[in-house]
Amino acid sequence: MRVLVVEDEHKIAAFIKRGLEENAYAVDVAYDGEEGYEWAQNFPYDIIILDVMLPKLDGVALCKRLRAKGGNASVLMLTAKDAVEDRVAGLDAGADDYLVKPFAFQELLARLRALRRRGGDQRTTQLRVADLTLDLVTHLAERDDQSIDLTTKEFALLELFMRHPNQILSRTVIAEHVWDYDFYSQSNIVDVYVRYLRKKIDDPFDEKLIQTVRGAGYRLAEGSYG
Ligand code: CA
Repeated sequence: MRVLVVEDEHKIAAFIKRGLEENAYAVDVAYDGEEGYEWAQNFPYDIIILDVMLPKLDGVALCKRLRAKGGNASVLMLTAKDAVEDRVAGLDAGADDYLVKPFAFQELLARLRALRRRGGDQRTTQLRVADLTLDLVTHLAERDDQSIDLTTKEFALLELFMRHPNQILSRTVIAEHVWDYDFYSQSNIVDVYVRYLRKKIDDPFDEKLIQTVRGAGYRLAEGSYG
């Protein structure tokens, strides 16, 4: 899950980035509204966390501009306490939710999970493909009654596959949703992590779920034996 954080207070931005990365999100940071707009135009973010009070272009104006351009990332606004007008203006500008500063990190994580559920037809906190399940709260995978521990990147990669079952995902699409800007230009990073993931969720089992589609990318689907 790729997240853009637009926040001019460097300490808060760094705190959010670090905390989200520990929870398997890929995070880029922009420090003013104009910069945030540029990043959002150039990369396919799943979620944008937007502070309201920003230099150059405030969060509400930025959100409006993104929506006018057809951007459909989920937007979570960070607002000051008691700033009811900001929250109303933010929601009316196309934000999906807001969080009042200061906030508990656990609440930020829960709201991000809720935003993703709202975006699709998923209403549960578990994804399932064939006999594989992935718990989006605990990050544990399970297959054939065996718990499978995943690293944060393996989790992020599997989550992406499981949100798009049966679809071919190109290496570029995978890289852009699982890694942040600093990492995903490493050419074979996707292949390396697909190999790690296969070792855990496919190698011990007869039915192979991750399929290589030659010249196109990878696909998670039921029913390939070998
Ligand atoms: Ca601010």
